[in-house]
Amino acid sequence: MSQTQHGVTVWFTGLSGAGKTTIRMAIEQALRGQGLKVEVLDGDIVRQNLTKGLGFSKADRDENIRRIGFVANLLTRNGVIVLVSAISPYRSVREEVRQKIDNFVEVYVNAPLDICEQRDVKGLYKKARAGEIKQFTGIDDPYEPPLNPEVECRTDLETLEESTAKVISTLQTLGYLPNPSIANPI
Ligand code: ADP
Repeated sequence: MSQTQHGVTVWFTGLSGAGKTTIRMAIEQALRGQGLKVEVLDGDIVRQNLTKGLGFSKADRDENIRRIGFVANLLTRNGVIVLVSAISPYRSVREEVRQKIDNFVEVYVNAPLDICEQRDVKGLYKKARAGEIKQFTGIDDPYEPPLNPEVECRTDLETLEESTAKVISTLQTLGYLPNPSIANPI
């Protein structure tokens, strides 16, 4: 690689089933295909190790996000593109993490609750409606949408390709991808 890679944290926030993991995987594949250093911090996986034992109270959710942010910052300042997908429902802790990380791009993965619920990718909405899961975001726990995300993907209205292209082009515009000639990496 002739140019030094810029580190950046790309933070995907949104309801369960909104499309965070799906878009993140497409971006990951595109960037790895360009030979870039990419790491992934996926909320579901992080909760099995780095933040194991934390629950879903506001305090625990915030702690979960702070720890993810801590690791994302270490990687970002070492030139890695860090893809974080986590519901991260609270605005204030997302802002706190943004302040700590020099290069931070927030992607609001937005689909209406009823669409996420229809998709019910993991069957969790059904359980939440049945009362088998408590404190489920969107059902009996809040989600505070970003006010000024760098990118918003309306996954009920856009194709995956459109959503992915939006993220990539924003990273290019902001100068986080080393080669601006990568116009259509997908
Ligand atoms: P999350 O990680 O936010 O919980 P997932 O990525 O696991 O959500 O699930 C999102 C679902 O929505 C997938 O089944 C995916 O195929 C579907 N989907 C439909 N349109 C889009 C889109 N434009 N972007 C991302 N996902 C989409």
